[in-house]
Amino acid sequence: GSTIGILGGGQLGRMLAVAAAQLGYRCHIYTPDETSVAADVAAEFTCAQDDDIPALEKFADACDVITFEFENVPVTPLNAIADRAPLYPPASALDIAQNRIAEKKFAQSHGGTPAPFAEVIDLASLEEAIKQVSTPAILKTIRMGYDGKGQVRIKAGDNLETCWDAIGHQPSVAEGFVTFSHEFSVILVRGQDGEILYWDTPHNVHEDGILSLSSAPAPAAILKHQDAARALAAKMAEAMNYVGVLTCEFFATADGPVFNEMAPRVHNSGHWTIEGAITSQFENHIRAICGLPLGDTGLAAEKVEMTNLIGGNAEEWQALLSDPANHLHLYGKGESRPGRKMGHVTRLFF
Ligand code: ATP
Ligand code: MG
Ligand code: MG
Repeated sequence: GSTIGILGGGQLGRMLAVAAAQLGYRCHIYTPDETSVAADVAAEFTCAQDDDIPALEKFADACDVITFEFENVPVTPLNAIADRAPLYPPASALDIAQNRIAEKKFAQSHGGTPAPFAEVIDLASLEEAIKQVSTPAILKTIRMGYDGKGQVRIKAGDNLETCWDAIGHQPSVAEGFVTFSHEFSVILVRGQDGEILYWDTPHNVHEDGILSLSSAPAPAAILKHQDAARALAAKMAEAMNYVGVLTCEFFATADGPVFNEMAPRVHNSGHWTIEGAITSQFENHIRAICGLPLGDTGLAAEKVEMTNLIGGNAEEWQALLSDPANHLHLYGKGESRPGRKMGHVTRLFF
């Protein structure tokens, strides 16, 4: 069979590799992380740095198609291997999604509304930015943040020098705090022929900046924003000539959907699709990058709920199995730490 290369070695790569195996593909994981939980379930594993061009070239030559499960892979070396194997989604999607400011401007250019934002490069620009977006605000590093890391919340009267120190003096974006009733995401898949399918819109609940719960179908307060949010996500996907699964996060507000960020990949708010949809986000991502017809994204139950297992221990996870309705997913990560995503549990309701 043919070989799919996956850049990145975390749980998303692991679930992609499982879906690929089911369709008869072999996966080759490329990551600097020698304890990769994706490599555990893949046929091949290259442990090398993200910018090691000779290693990337060798990897690309061994693959028929390449994708990524981690969006912070440096783009320049990827462009250097572009003639060796097709890369889906395209590097241009990574370029945009790696930079919070580029991402917001891209969404704006397609009619989307982000939170008020301003670029911050030093203490003086932070002071200006906070005047502009007002408080409460969130300061986020422009690059590399995930699970709420690389963020500082700012209240009226906070000492901005302390905030600037807390973000490590990194180029950042200050965002006005959005008053929202709900958070949700649009998860779509775009095939090589341009066909776009959407999964049901999940309602997402975050705790301390980390996703804790996703459920579908969403309440009416979210569904009333669904058409506008989907239209924006589709325009963005088309503009990037996107292939694969694309996720856009939104806040539901009185003034319509506010765009938060996009992930050019399968997404935690879509893990419920493994059992809760006719075809999972992982399977459809593999189908899309391999040029296969896309599978039905419809709900497989009346209602689905996915809860993340953040930190915790083996005893707690085993206990979940005593309820026969629970589908338990463990990512095989060695060490459990507070704030670390160790697995998830999905329940279907009929
Ligand atoms: P992810 O793991 O989703 O990539 P991230 O580190 O990129 O997370 P964000 O999505 O920017 O972080 O923020 C995490 C959460 O913090 C959001 O889902 C939301 O709950 C809250 N949040 C972020 N920005 C804002 C904002 N401008 N207004 C209100 N809440 C916000
Ligand atoms: Mg993010
Ligand atoms: Mg987010």
